[in-house]
Amino acid sequence: MNYAIIAENDESLWHDQTGETYHFPKTYQKLLLPGTQIIYYKGRMLKKTFKDKRMTPAPYYFGTAVIGHVYPDPDSSKGDLYADIEHFTRFSYPIEITQNGTYLESIPDSKKTNYWRNGVRGISLEVYQRIISLSDRTDENQTNDKNQGESESYTSTEGRKKLVMTTVYERDPNLRSRAIEIHGLSCMACAVNFRELYGEWGEGFIHVHHTKPVAEGVREVSPKEDMIVLCPNCHSMIHRKKNVTLTLEQLKAILRKK
Ligand SMILES: [Zn+2]
Ligand SMILES: [Zn+2]
Repeated sequence: MNYAIIAENDESLWHDQTGETYHFPKTYQKLLLPGTQIIYYKGRMLKKTFKDKRMTPAPYYFGTAVIGHVYPDPDSSKGDLYADIEHFTRFSYPIEITQNGTYLESIPDSKKTNYWRNGVRGISLEVYQRIISLSDRTDENQTNDKNQGESESYTSTEGRKKLVMTTVYERDPNLRSRAIEIHGLSCMACAVNFRELYGEWGEGFIHVHHTKPVAEGVREVSPKEDMIVLCPNCHSMIHRKKNVTLTLEQLKAILRKK
């Protein structure tokens, strides 16, 4: 089985369409044989005019599919090709290309300089799985959803420890008030403000969320960098799935799609 990343440009010169057809130069033919499992990728936003058409301005992965029939582009003199795209599934939120500062794709030493310029990149099964494990399209996640009521009993010790630590930081009154001083009292995802909505009764109400997984004990927490303020709805949505905690950008992208 072959696995590959295919890049989609914001602006295309060809008649390709997300999830339907993909246009590519002949040099990538061996990487995109029929049956290849692919992950869609978008590079950094180059023109602001495309902001509303993207999930986020930073580079991201946004779906999976399978290469179907491959055929020549009749208008190309250089042997360009089209591929039919089958089984396209879009992720609910964008997946960032790095995780804890490391690229999800393994970049071979020989390709270090121009790696991200390649519109099609062959990847290993391991990389493929690494990326989809962060999406909401994994079998594991579907199982979680079904078991939601009893998910607590499946939480690993590690996961439980992290959850407890995060909750402690989110409840620490000093960190909480520092975070609110910095970020204000309006939800950073959907902008709801409880004073505006409920008048005086809502004054000062907001949840504080810790954005970085907390490593064993001693780590310093910065209310500016590591904490955000969210309404209870958005806070619940960020924590909805046990093994994925959304980033603020991912949640905003989901909200924007409505
Ligand atoms: Zn909100
Ligand atoms: Zn939280």
